[in-house]
Amino acid sequence: MKALVYHGPGQKSWDDVPDPTVTDPTDIVVQVDTSTICGTDLHILKGDVPTVEQGRLLGHEAVGTVVATGAAVTSLAEGDRVIIPAITSCGRCANCKRAMPSHCLAVGGVGWIFGHLIDGLQAEYARVPFAETSVHKVPEGVTDTQVLFLTDILPTGYEVGVRNGRVKPGDTVAVVGAGPVGLAAIMTCGLHGASRVIAIDKAASRLEHAKQFGAGYTINADDDVDAALAELTDGQGVDVAIEAVGVPETFETCARIVRPGGVVANIGVHGASATLHLEELWIKNITITTGLVDTVTVPMLLQLVRDGRIRAEMFGTHDFALDKIMDAYDVFANAAEHNALKVVLKR
Ligand code: NAD
Ligand code: ZN
Repeated sequence: MKALVYHGPGQKSWDDVPDPTVTDPTDIVVQVDTSTICGTDLHILKGDVPTVEQGRLLGHEAVGTVVATGAAVTSLAEGDRVIIPAITSCGRCANCKRAMPSHCLAVGGVGWIFGHLIDGLQAEYARVPFAETSVHKVPEGVTDTQVLFLTDILPTGYEVGVRNGRVKPGDTVAVVGAGPVGLAAIMTCGLHGASRVIAIDKAASRLEHAKQFGAGYTINADDDVDAALAELTDGQGVDVAIEAVGVPETFETCARIVRPGGVVANIGVHGASATLHLEELWIKNITITTGLVDTVTVPMLLQLVRDGRIRAEMFGTHDFALDKIMDAYDVFANAAEHNALKVVLKR
């Protein structure tokens, strides 16, 4: 088969590689029908994720068709269409039983293994371990593009942003960073009754997208964010500040703009330490949350997608054939230039 192979920092190619096979009884093998590229793949290609070995097939977000099942698999059969989320989980270990499959112990303590610790989903076929406890069947009448973004960005924005941020009816929510993940938080905070949703980003094009995804207000991060927010919140600050960039500056912005008693929900993957101003925050009764997505809300979000309540396909701005993935990487890596959110790769 063909697959996107990581050959070390800055190096990737669309290569011939061996077909995957069922190796454990809980495995399935899928034909990858639709997949996408994640900002994390770009981090890997920059060499930021040293746990990814050379020769690894990348990708952790896909929809596919089951072509083989292991002996222990009883609820999935050849021909089933499945959503393969970024998180793989056994369903049995202590962390899975705590409803925290992001830290499944059976796969090594971090549930993100595709395109990281095992071969990934930017390929014509893929082996999916712990299939029955990890994948979700696609309902009749729902397209691949509608469910593709349930594999990572939608549950991330919802679980790590909205749910951890304890958004409740009437809240004013600021989302700092309107990339795909921030937009997913903007798109889903209405589920909890957010009233005033404010997107903050440096890129005007991203702020335009934010309006389409449900932000009522936008602020350019290069303008006076604090003054604009003071005006929108009567000087109080926001109820919930969601960080969806992953740099010290934006975390510190969130900690500054939250009102007393509010929540800062960090989503961004940080590579450098941010300053926590406890000398100002100790008196503010705020809560700060962090998290790796669990993908436990995929079944719930899937119902909303099926019934047209969440228009997840809006994230897919550029379509490519799977074998044109090198071109897709170029577009995704220069997203601003192409006004891109996510690419959709189809076999
Ligand atoms: P992205 O790079 O596509 O988007 C980031 C956005 O932030 C861009 O629109 C950019 O213009 C904006 N931005 C950059 N610097 C800014 C600043 N100083 N102020 C305001 N806006 C700024 O990334 P994404 O795919 O949307 O992901 C967002 C973050 O979420 C990343 O750090 C990613 O690694 C992380 N992530 C976390 C999890 C998790 O489980 N916690 C899962 C997936 C992704
Ligand atoms: Zn991802």
